[in-house]
Amino acid sequence: MTAKILVSACLLGRPVRYNGSAKTLAHPLLAQWQAEGRVVATCPEVSAGFSIPRPPSEIGEGKAGESVLSGTARVIDINGSDVTDLFLAGAENALALARAHGCRFALLIDGSPSCGSGFIYDGSFTGKKHPGTGVTAALLRAHNIEVFSDSEIDALERRMVQAS
Ligand code: SF4
Repeated sequence: MTAKILVSACLLGRPVRYNGSAKTLAHPLLAQWQAEGRVVATCPEVSAGFSIPRPPSEIGEGKAGESVLSGTARVIDINGSDVTDLFLAGAENALALARAHGCRFALLIDGSPSCGSGFIYDGSFTGKKHPGTGVTAALLRAHNIEVFSDSEIDALERRMVQAS
């Protein structure tokens, strides 16, 4: 099987998160896919021009990525700046990269206002989570790319086998 997979760069050990850290996923499947040349790394936020480090951002009012795409929610950083346009640009960059490489699947880190696919933070900057997607995950799903979180890597492998 040769399917390529779009993967959050911070899961691959790249220190691109808002606080300048990585969140490396040490999993044999990910190592195998990398060795096979099937991993396409993306950091939507850095691709859009955010710096490292940068202020943390959350989707406002307990909403999620789909609402940002439809224009009914905004992404705000902890200082109150509206960074919605950069988040949308990063999502478009990730989608373009996925299409350029023919990726039908993505493995993205959960909890991020860009990459989250199972939960995100609620916009209060108090550490409260709720079910929902980040902006990039929502855009990828809207274009029929199947998004799995970092805790679902085994399910992603099963799904790719099933789809091959
Ligand atoms: Fe990681 Fe995605 Fe945040 Fe970039 S945008 S640091 S890839 S979670």
